[in-house]
Amino acid sequence: MHKKLFIPGPVDVRTDVLQKMALPMIGHRSKDASMLQHNISDKLRKLFYTNNDILLSTTSGSGLMEGAVRSCTMKRAVVFSVGAFGKRWFEMAQSNNIPSDIFEVEWGQATRAQQVDEVLASGKYDLITITHNETSTGIMNPLEEIAEAVKKYPEVVFCVDAVSSAGGSKIEVDKLGIDICITSTQKALGLPPGLAICTFSEKARHRAEQVPFRGYYLDLLQLYKYILEKDYQYPSTPSLSHMFALDYQLDNILQEGLDSRFNRHIELAEYVRTWTRKNFTIFADKRYMSNTLTTITNTRDIDVGALNKELGARGFQISNGYGKMKEKTFRIAHMAECQLDDIKELIDNIDDILNL
Ligand SMILES: *Cc1c(COP(=O)(O)O)cnc(C)c1O
Repeated sequence: MHKKLFIPGPVDVRTDVLQKMALPMIGHRSKDASMLQHNISDKLRKLFYTNNDILLSTTSGSGLMEGAVRSCTMKRAVVFSVGAFGKRWFEMAQSNNIPSDIFEVEWGQATRAQQVDEVLASGKYDLITITHNETSTGIMNPLEEIAEAVKKYPEVVFCVDAVSSAGGSKIEVDKLGIDICITSTQKALGLPPGLAICTFSEKARHRAEQVPFRGYYLDLLQLYKYILEKDYQYPSTPSLSHMFALDYQLDNILQEGLDSRFNRHIELAEYVRTWTRKNFTIFADKRYMSNTLTTITNTRDIDVGALNKELGARGFQISNGYGKMKEKTFRIAHMAECQLDDIKELIDNIDDILNL
């Protein structure tokens, strides 16, 4: 039996979108391949509110996170972390021998503009990474206020991990001055895992041109060159199946309307938050709660593993807490094609199992 997924990726994928993965292959050096990537890029520019170029990578989102920090740091990178995925970006920098520092807050708290401003004022850094939506803690960072602080430092390349928010929450890349905004297919975009996407600004490109050792497969400049010089192609063989599905799913997303889609995510989040406040507590700082998932503090000391097992028998799956927060918290994702009725059905079943 298929379990309806309420985990923060991979998410359930519409059947018509899944079927696009089964389309016959085309040559990756053909005009059709160029056209496919061109169309995808045009649609993604709308989703990201940007005129910048769009890079695709046949990796998951982590691939472009690693590529960004490696391709675009000349001097020193600063990583602001509010949980597990922030920390991952720092580990990527370190393992690529990129000079870098990490600034962390207590889990459940957000990155604040004032701290970003103070750190960048040191003049030590020429690249910053921010997690927009931290999937371990359920924090959605105040990107607008952070962006205002980053704008004061024009030499700094601004990288944002929007893996679990892009497609579910509004991110106005150009207005915010984001140079590299990264996501992957299996979260709020509602596709199978296997493709990463990022926006790529002129500033990021100029920086990459100065960096001598950008690696090979995850070199953002190389990805860009194949768009520019080879008319929207990919340096190696891309996952064309993902591209067929992405091109089609972006039509669905734009047809729903971006604002309607983002509002639907807020509505789902509010339903889960209301239920959580009644029965548990919300883990994240109330001012910065995520619109795409809720991390719930296990104040009733329930057996989360057992709950999930019983949910599984009924055809649903939620997430336990991430890493060290297992059993202390659990997570309900409400993203991509999830509708209010789906969430209500899930919550009704949890209520029934826990006698709430
Ligand atoms: C899932 C996730 C990642 C990792 O993305 P992959 O596509 O699994 O590589 C990074 N950051 C955040 C915030 C995520 O939720």
